[in-house]
Amino acid sequence: MRKILIIGAGQSGLQLALGLQSKGYEVTLMSNRTADEIRSGRVMSTQCMFHTALQHERDLGINFWESQAPRIEGLGVSVAAPDASRAVDWVGKLDGYAQSVDQRVKMAGWMETFAQRGGQLVIHGAAVSDLDFFASRYDLTLVSAGKGELVSMFGRDASRSPYDAPQRALSVAYVHGMGPRPEHPEFDAVRCNLVPGVGELFVMPTLTNTGRADILFWEGVPGGPLDAFQGIKDPNEHLALTLELLKRFLPWEYDRSTKVELTDANGTLAGRYAPTVRNPIGRLPSGGLVLGVADVVVANDPITGQGSNSASKCAAAYLASIVERGDQPFDAEWMQATFDRYWQTAQHVTKWTNAMLAPPPEHVLNIIGAAGQLQPVADRFANGFNNPADFENFFFDPDKANAYLASVTGQPAG
Ligand SMILES: Cc1cc2nc3c(=O)[nH]c(=O)nc-3n(C[C@H](O)[C@H](O)[C@H](O)COP(=O)(O)OP(=O)(O)OC[C@H]3O[C@@H](n4cnc5c(N)ncnc54)[C@H](O)[C@@H]3O)c2cc1C
Repeated sequence: MRKILIIGAGQSGLQLALGLQSKGYEVTLMSNRTADEIRSGRVMSTQCMFHTALQHERDLGINFWESQAPRIEGLGVSVAAPDASRAVDWVGKLDGYAQSVDQRVKMAGWMETFAQRGGQLVIHGAAVSDLDFFASRYDLTLVSAGKGELVSMFGRDASRSPYDAPQRALSVAYVHGMGPRPEHPEFDAVRCNLVPGVGELFVMPTLTNTGRADILFWEGVPGGPLDAFQGIKDPNEHLALTLELLKRFLPWEYDRSTKVELTDANGTLAGRYAPTVRNPIGRLPSGGLVLGVADVVVANDPITGQGSNSASKCAAAYLASIVERGDQPFDAEWMQATFDRYWQTAQHVTKWTNAMLAPPPEHVLNIIGAAGQLQPVADRFANGFNNPADFENFFFDPDKANAYLASVTGQPAG
């Protein structure tokens, strides 16, 4: 059977490894950390995944935590007014529920499953020289090492990367003890809170090592008041600052956070990165080719919560392309075509995410405002998180936005 080497055991690498393994491929997976190190390590993401991405996991039978993880049935948007009241507040209903399973739980569990099923697991932080040595021994080498150093093998695609610097400072806290949103205590939702010119707070439930928890995730405009977490080493200090900023900018979220405590000492994260699209094929010093996967080739800012979704979609598309290739060589042409297939989905995510990082134009403000009165608009916006291609139909272009709102209200656009 064909031999495949996968570097990096995250959402995309593990999903691909388990998928290829189930189809009889001989898979070697190289991870820079053991399952236990991942499980007891720092949180990495908020990893909210929507229906289509979750379905790819179900299709492989690796949705091991589905019955335990909270079902996220809605997605809400609140916009803060200058006096810290709410100018906008609504929740859209998702057609299929979303879920977040702490990557520490999921990646550790999937890695153990891969090894139990006979997969070759190598614990080693791969360098380019390792890839150069190993790649010739495999039919295909996939690099799914996230935003780590190996991305240097893949050139930046400037035409698809409008930003060359981070657009948000990120800070995350996993907590127990958060109350429900009083507007909809009967169901869970991702709550997106926008503070114009300052940043965003996302709140969502997750399943972590210690059961159900909620995540408080600030995205701060660099240099602004939310860009204050870098250098904080003490997790309790990190949480205290998270709450202080909640109280100042989003008192309605603070009100349900007064009793929270961190899930664990590794339940906080701070960082930033520039959203970047890269050329998918890496050339090794001795001439061999490797194919980049998910974040390696398309890393968007998490403002739209799409990276894990995209990683799942990328793994599903690559799996199909590998299987369809049969015994033919995995050459440069095939690699480019395989990435192009994924880009059909990823281009919409990239366009929408980069748009959300910029100040919203008037027609976008109109849509977000109208969703407060028009439930179909709220629902459509919410379901766009599952299928970002739909934003092409009503979000980017002012004429399409006006025409859509007119079609919902029955009033002519104007
Ligand atoms: C704060 C934050 C919040 C987010 N929230 C969401 C969200 O709500 N929804 C969503 O869909 N996405 C979200 N994302 C994005 C999402 O987490 C990532 O896009 C996704 O995990 C990417 O998957 P991946 O497989 O490409 O890489 P990763 O999940 O990053 O996995 C890469 C793996 O490779 C390993 N590795 C790195 N270098 C090497 C090496 N040299 N050798 C061996 N192994 C190596 C790493 O340790 C890691 O385990 C968020 C990201 C951040 C930072």
